[in-house]
Amino acid sequence: MTQADIARATALSRATVNHIVQALRDQGAVEYQWKNRREALVTLSSNRGSVASIFVREAEIHAILFDFTGQARSDFFNADFPNFAGSQTSPPQVLEIVQQLIGVAQTRSSPLCGISIAIEGPIEQSTGAIAPWAWQRLPHWKQVDIRAYFTKHLRIPTVVDNDANFAALSEWSWGIGRGCNDFLYITSAEGIGGGIIINGKVYHGGTGLAGEFGHMVIEEHGNLCFCGNRGCLTSFATEHAILKALGDSGKTKTSLLDVIESARNGDAACQRVLSETGRHLGKALATVVRVLGPSVIAIGGTLGHAGEIVLDGLRSSAEVINLRAIGQAPEFHIATILDDATEFGGMAAILSEIDLGISSLAPWMMESRRVGSSQSEDRA
Ligand SMILES: [Zn+2]
Repeated sequence: MTQADIARATALSRATVNHIVQALRDQGAVEYQWKNRREALVTLSSNRGSVASIFVREAEIHAILFDFTGQARSDFFNADFPNFAGSQTSPPQVLEIVQQLIGVAQTRSSPLCGISIAIEGPIEQSTGAIAPWAWQRLPHWKQVDIRAYFTKHLRIPTVVDNDANFAALSEWSWGIGRGCNDFLYITSAEGIGGGIIINGKVYHGGTGLAGEFGHMVIEEHGNLCFCGNRGCLTSFATEHAILKALGDSGKTKTSLLDVIESARNGDAACQRVLSETGRHLGKALATVVRVLGPSVIAIGGTLGHAGEIVLDGLRSSAEVINLRAIGQAPEFHIATILDDATEFGGMAAILSEIDLGISSLAPWMMESRRVGSSQSEDRA
């Protein structure tokens, strides 16, 4: 925004805005981009140091080091970490990884100012640990207060959340949800996750389990789900469910991206199964909309790559049509940040934690560069 825009939006005088912007500029928190000779856009900036965003799954780790000083992004995967060969992840391993990243940042004279850790599992608000029903999948994280653990060992600002909440945060910060205070995000890939933003904040609920849309029952007598219920959204709209539905037609595909590509190339069965997935999503989301009343909903994850095919199915579901009949329905969109959304959301969260921010994702942030160990560089 220009200073004049800020003054209008905040109802502060231009002199006050000028004063505040100058103070922020002195701290390096904002910078100017000149629009013309008279007016400059004021943008948030993080022009010092590095932050690390780490996504921890059952047996997979992806860490991104965002170096704001050197404007460079570095990606690290399992193979870049000695002592981690796809075994089940654990807090000490991630701690070692962060220490490795601290070292990398130091050699670049761009010290690590904070880290975010995304866990592929629900985190309880009361204990700061993963919920009991995810213990089996993430056994080494059982009863560990994750944020407390890392803060104690590293003494740098740390934020922790589940992957879908971070993904929602990234889409809300820089994507389709921008500027919208009440936003819903649903992601479908191997599993279904979701994030709810209410009044500009991620809503965790008392238990920390808010946004777990996957096990909403949408078909009482539907397929059996691993959670023990029948007809959960998970049994209709995940990669596994989509491949299974397609398999019943005699077609075999190995991944959801494969299905999407074939649908784009005109395969009728693939188109049909994706459109039905959209309809199932519509059925589940219509219920959520009645309860929460979000103004914008974004579909992310691998399924987001299907774009209009899924969206058309969603909008044509009887429940969504009915929703429009009774009042103003929310906007449904495909998320704009489909790759590394969780990692970007982690960056948004940690920047906010240390009182910094960025107005938009710069091109260097989107460019995945693998510069882990020398070994991996050789392989690359
Ligand atoms: Zn279920």
